[in-house]
Amino acid sequence: MRDTNETHFLHLIRDRQPVSRTGLVKETGLRPGTVSVVVNRLIKAGFVYEAEAAPSSGGRRPIYLQVNAEKAYAVAISIGVHHSIYIVSDFNGRVLSQHTVRTEGDAERFLAHLSKEIASHLKSHYPKARIWAIGVSVPGLLDRTDGTVVFSPNLRWDNVPVRGLLEKELKLPVFVENDANVAALSELWYGPLEVSSAHSLLFVLIVEGIGTGFILNGDLHIGTRVGSGGFGHTPLDPKGPPCSCGNIGCWEALASDDATLKRFHQDQPSRSLEVRSVHDLVSLALNGDKDARQHIVTTGTLIGRGLRGLAHGLAPEVIVIGGAITEAWPLIEPVLKKEIKSGYLIEGVSLPQLRRASVESPSVFGGVPLALRTILRTKKLRKAS
Ligand SMILES: [Zn+2]
Repeated sequence: MRDTNETHFLHLIRDRQPVSRTGLVKETGLRPGTVSVVVNRLIKAGFVYEAEAAPSSGGRRPIYLQVNAEKAYAVAISIGVHHSIYIVSDFNGRVLSQHTVRTEGDAERFLAHLSKEIASHLKSHYPKARIWAIGVSVPGLLDRTDGTVVFSPNLRWDNVPVRGLLEKELKLPVFVENDANVAALSELWYGPLEVSSAHSLLFVLIVEGIGTGFILNGDLHIGTRVGSGGFGHTPLDPKGPPCSCGNIGCWEALASDDATLKRFHQDQPSRSLEVRSVHDLVSLALNGDKDARQHIVTTGTLIGRGLRGLAHGLAPEVIVIGGAITEAWPLIEPVLKKEIKSGYLIEGVSLPQLRRASVESPSVFGGVPLALRTILRTKKLRKAS
């Protein structure tokens, strides 16, 4: 409860800063005493500081609260099929630098190369910064006890000790999570307040496959020790295309980026060079290309078909969709809404709010809260409180 309160206040201050204590009382509806207890704890732990506002026309100068951006930095790494991205962020979640490297060759050699590059970047650019931890996003199944990627069909990785390899080189704590779960975490830091404070949030990440991350009471729902915990392999069409998992007509085999491209290329074989990615397809659709538009709508329908069951079963307050397909949000939003429609999902009562992701690369940005969230659970803060 305490963690949740502090996280919520941190998010609130980050969002509204500079903000006064009176401002926080108004925002939260809590009693001034309660607000002061949490704020004092945050100040004592060094997360937040107070500063006097600029001189105004007489009267007492108001005191404002601000997040201490220098408190701790984080490195977030997103390992992708073709490219991997790493960023360095301050405690405000502001991205200070961003780099892209090709994901190539043998997994262990690639990770050794990547960690050497990051180590040298940190040493030359942030020699005095306090880097708290590293958050890593990987598509695939991972063992959370030791941060090993057990199996990633997209990366073609088998039993790769990602955490062990990175910690050895970087000498920092490393947290590894599945890409859709990391994407879900991005909304907790980068989403608007009403989203980040939602009791339940379902994130649907549409990339080469489909992954989902579920946030409950401000924390990720993690299923088994090994697993993605996602809904991508929910069978939706017994006559559908074969899926990488060995079954037929899974949600991911119907509505992922790979599925969308495959459908378009089968339908328009002469345009396979023109359309190499969903991003290309979306650009065409938004420029009025009728075929491209039709294919985007078809994918939207198939995404919506999978969402309907989840909206019923999980009853999340918010459903967030991430991935290149959401660049066509004006085209797919009405289709998703139509597909989700059901007599049991009543607007304002049980119908989830539907949104597109708040950041463009959620599985990169989510690595920041993945790395930094442990700071709120340290003994130091407990002692300070
Ligand atoms: Zn499947």
